[in-house]
Amino acid sequence: MVDMPPEDSVQRPIVVPDPEGSRDNEVRPFAIEGMDVRGRAVRLGTVTDQILSDHNYPDPVARILGELLTLASLLGSILKFDGIVTLQTKSKGPVPMMVADFETGGDGTGRLRGYAQLDAKRLATYGKNPSFEGLVGNKDGYLALTIDQGADMDRYQGIVDLAGASLSDVARNYFMSSEQTPTELRLSCERDAVTGNWRSGGIMVQHLARGEVGQQRILDRETKEQWERASILMHSVKEAELLDPALDLDQLLYRLYHEDGVRVFESAHLVKGCRCERERLLAVLGQFGEDEINEMVKDGKIGMNCQFCNKTFEFTADEARGQ
Ligand SMILES: [Zn+2]
Repeated sequence: MVDMPPEDSVQRPIVVPDPEGSRDNEVRPFAIEGMDVRGRAVRLGTVTDQILSDHNYPDPVARILGELLTLASLLGSILKFDGIVTLQTKSKGPVPMMVADFETGGDGTGRLRGYAQLDAKRLATYGKNPSFEGLVGNKDGYLALTIDQGADMDRYQGIVDLAGASLSDVARNYFMSSEQTPTELRLSCERDAVTGNWRSGGIMVQHLARGEVGQQRILDRETKEQWERASILMHSVKEAELLDPALDLDQLLYRLYHEDGVRVFESAHLVKGCRCERERLLAVLGQFGEDEINEMVKDGKIGMNCQFCNKTFEFTADEARGQ
């Protein structure tokens, strides 16, 4: 007879650590020699998988959230100060809201988290492979980008319509409309064919404006050609290359830009991180009145769930009343 492990130990998800020297979970900034083009490439393995696995979203929803996390990594890693970059979609689609945020603490590490709100009934009517537009993009939807630098500092918010066939389209529109920076990017999130774990990756290039007054016109044609070349090469990247665990980002950048020459800068490292804390949730509970608290109590306890990491915190009714 074979000894079977107790049931709960079988059902626990297996978290496989990144192998030593793994190049997953990093953002690599780069520049192409002799061009006014800067870029960033990102690859996420266990971080995307763990965030998506905390929830049990249907694959088409998980795929878009994975892309949103990847986009948040690209944008968040640009920050030169400690802060939080939040990307949020809102629409009347069957996925009314999606959030991904990136927090940097100035140590070169970005902490990522994210979640989606679903309307399960409506989602069920969309078939097996609903489109991006069908799920989150519709005429009334928008993507908001918020940059928060902490309590007393300015908060920046930019907004763009959720118009386009993919999140990459929406992000490209955002850069053109809000930042007037020509930007091309690709994002991808897919399950690994062998392990079934989620992986995501992305790459973006931006055409930087030259500062010198008077040179603009002379350089226009030359820089336009350079920009087109950089964009075409960027778009030649295959989805499999964005996700391939065996192809590190430097190899990928070399493949794309070795004819022109490519320089890389120090990477930002990415980890999964949530800011939920018992004290913070208790403070939220403190805002409810006695009747509401009584309604929330089940079996003598109140359970509060963190939407981001799906962790449940339990409080007694007395704790919730601040006693
Ligand atoms: Zn949490």
